[in-house]
Amino acid sequence: MSVTVETALRFDGVHKTFPNGTTALADVNLSVAAGEFVAVVGPSGCGKSTLLRLASNLDPVTSGTVQTPHGDSLGYVFQDPTLLPWRRVLGNVELPAELAGVPKPERRARAREALRLVGLEGAEKQLPRQLSGGMRMRVSLARALTMRPALFLFDEPFGALDEITRLRMQEELQRILTEQRFAGLFITHSVTEACFLASRVVVMSARPGRIIATFDVPFPHPRPAELRYDPDFAKIAGEVSAALRGGNQ
Ligand code: ADP
Repeated sequence: MSVTVETALRFDGVHKTFPNGTTALADVNLSVAAGEFVAVVGPSGCGKSTLLRLASNLDPVTSGTVQTPHGDSLGYVFQDPTLLPWRRVLGNVELPAELAGVPKPERRARAREALRLVGLEGAEKQLPRQLSGGMRMRVSLARALTMRPALFLFDEPFGALDEITRLRMQEELQRILTEQRFAGLFITHSVTEACFLASRVVVMSARPGRIIATFDVPFPHPRPAELRYDPDFAKIAGEVSAALRGGNQ
């Protein structure tokens, strides 16, 4: 099926079987509109990371199609921030633009703007080892922002952070989302995180991963931290959790 630039990502009837015979995904149909933020929750091993690899064209599908009308305009944020230890914060954030041949004044301006967005102005000269886990994650996010991607792929980015830092990062990310309006596919184990960030939450079954339920999360952005204690929010999160338990049996 054809897609328009209004679509950031589209999976149609996607199956993925690895050469060893493991089927990771079965009949996945999913589309992310431009500027839409979708979260995917599912049990460990259900194929969430595989879904992201297929979305980024790092891995081929076995059958079905994956379309990204914006081509290579992709940003990645993983659990491991993968910063270069010998480069200072500014140098790390500039790296993708540097590799893409963006002239120095332009890439420096983009890096400074991205650091401002993630709340790290003033940390430009620090080395990664001087940063906390939350700060390293902010640097990783800033680095991806410098390329102004149409679609962001997040693979459990906050999974290794302590609870307080994790909640703060969720609040920061949705503030940035409100400002930047990029499309996102966000993989997480946390139902609350998925509901807090996304306008739509997709639930996957145990392997082979299929989409077993989809929930709209209609609260406007920017969302206040207290939304997590709102009864309407709790109701949706409860429904997502119930679907997840159902698919995990
Ligand atoms: P999740 O991210 O949901 O934990 P993954 O996408 O990493 O799940 O993996 C889905 C399933 O596919 C798992 O059972 C995993 O062991 C298997 N798998 C992942 N990559 C490969 C591979 N390259 N070859 C064989 N099996 C794989």
